[in-house]
Amino acid sequence: MTTANDLSQISEKARSFIHSQKGLFIDGQSRPASDGSTISVVDPSSGEEIARIADASAQDVDAAVGAARRALTDRAWVDMQPYRREALMLALAAAIEAEVESLAEIETLNSGKLIANTRLFDAELPVHSLRYVAGWASRLNGETMNLSVPYLPDLRFSGFTKRYPVGVVAAITPWNVPLCMAVWKLAPVLATGCTIVLKPAEQTSLTALRLAELCAEVGIPDGVINVITGRGASAGRMLVEHPGVDKINFTGSTEVGRGIAISAARSFKKYNLELGGKSPLIITETADLDQAIPGAAWAIYGNSGQNCCAGSRMLVHEKHYDAVLSGVREIAASLQLGPGLDPASQLAPLSSRMHRDRVALHVDAARAAGADVSGGEAVDGPGSYFTPAVIAGLDPDHPTAQEEIFGPVLCAFSFTSDEEAITLANQTRFGLGASVWTRDIDCADRYFDALQAGTVWINTHNILDLALPFGGDKESGVGLELGREGVLAHTKLRSGVKAHPKMR
Ligand code: NAD
Repeated sequence: MTTANDLSQISEKARSFIHSQKGLFIDGQSRPASDGSTISVVDPSSGEEIARIADASAQDVDAAVGAARRALTDRAWVDMQPYRREALMLALAAAIEAEVESLAEIETLNSGKLIANTRLFDAELPVHSLRYVAGWASRLNGETMNLSVPYLPDLRFSGFTKRYPVGVVAAITPWNVPLCMAVWKLAPVLATGCTIVLKPAEQTSLTALRLAELCAEVGIPDGVINVITGRGASAGRMLVEHPGVDKINFTGSTEVGRGIAISAARSFKKYNLELGGKSPLIITETADLDQAIPGAAWAIYGNSGQNCCAGSRMLVHEKHYDAVLSGVREIAASLQLGPGLDPASQLAPLSSRMHRDRVALHVDAARAAGADVSGGEAVDGPGSYFTPAVIAGLDPDHPTAQEEIFGPVLCAFSFTSDEEAITLANQTRFGLGASVWTRDIDCADRYFDALQAGTVWINTHNILDLALPFGGDKESGVGLELGREGVLAHTKLRSGVKAHPKMR
């Protein structure tokens, strides 16, 4: 039996934000949805409503895109000296830093996640993200080239490139790392002089609304950042299809991403898609098991498995299979389930009852197929608690081993050779992350080259950094986020040619 979050534990600041009226943030103002519709926001540890958010209508989406377009075309923002945009981003980083604790509390109440997790990844990481990306505002350089133009020998030409903001960005984020994702979308927009309409996941929109308020407080001009809350199939779809949007930056499921790519293709909008995964974690014959066993457990049970790169398929050399399987099972059984605000909790509830039911169906299907399953049970009582599962003996092509579950469910397989491990690892439509655990540097190199994934970790898993571009191979995505590439993806490059008379 588990308990719910104790609301008396949160700060006055977090409490008053949770209880405040929440509207859509458009053109620097908060306003209700034009038709007054709202959506219930639930604490996953209790299943109880903690707030209501506005459900944006077509008229609201249009107003938000219009505000973002005006902020772009009136030139004040686009022409702002880069060091001033950088200064605004640094001020925003400081404003978030000053509220780390209350932002983490709001996120924990809204998403269910552990407070240590929301503090680190939803509140502190955005601060670092903004500080890293802020420096790019003044580093968006073009290049110059020596041109040959062999068919016009009597003239001299110089070539050059210049970067411009890509325009109005529609950013759509999922519920698993809400504030961090919102800032990852916002930061390159601010650095490059774009404007944004952000639509956070309807389950976890609260911190994005506080982020918008902080943007206004530090002086980011009205219209540059707009946040519309609402459902994916309505507000999200209308935003993606809006003709005033120039680029879509989407993080979410592969199925929704596919629909966005099709929609964007019709109007030739630019887009990048950061999508789902079913990432392999490979423990080779030469792995250090003291490192690999806790590493594998963390890779799948961190954030209750609600990570796009979760190491959900564990491939273990046959020599170590029994030891690793029992080691991971022991860790899984020892994890203390509890509400996110309780510092003793090690595994938080899943994001919603509906999501938990979906996760449970995958585990039930594995049981029905005769797999050896430990854990994987919905916990009686309020909230959406689910015990961590380890599944062994499943066919690698079974849907539970192939589909993204986005929960604390690990499928374990053994292999006899590196070739077999690589084949098994790549036997998926996804290609987001992969890790290989070995003490042999040549082995690490071989796997690194052979694995089909946007990121390959060696002796670690799921480490992302602002300086490192991140994106998916195969059905895990299109384009890149983070790093230099993520910033430049918010610019359009124009090539120029100047003709000069020949020097006499
Ligand atoms: P989701 O695709 O259901 O929703 C993501 C966002 O898209 C939400 O804001 C939702 O409202 C919106 N949306 C839904 N339908 C839409 C539509 N038709 N048009 C426009 N927007 C729409 O995903 P989710 O359940 O919120 O998040 C989990 C998924 O996100 C997993 O697949 C996970 O792997 C993926 N994810 C990927 C990354 C990455 O960087 N690759 C990171 C985190 C999560």
